[in-house]
Amino acid sequence: MKIFCCKEHVEVGLDNIVDEAEVPPFIDSLSDKENGEVTNNLGDFTCEYCGKPAVYVVANEHSDTICGQ
Ligand SMILES: [Zn+2]
Repeated sequence: MKIFCCKEHVEVGLDNIVDEAEVPPFIDSLSDKENGEVTNNLGDFTCEYCGKPAVYVVANEHSDTICGQ
């Protein structure tokens, strides 16, 4: 599962992943920068909790681009 979330709700997303999957969550940033400048796909994803543009994606598995876990 994947949950898209904004900065404010990333902890909520992490909690939900842990509750659902009972595994350490994997978090990825949709932004290339830490200062909040989102350069990647902003607008394509929205926070599941408030509907703002998502900044992070939280998942219970690594993305397809990361193998060998
Ligand atoms: Zn939010």
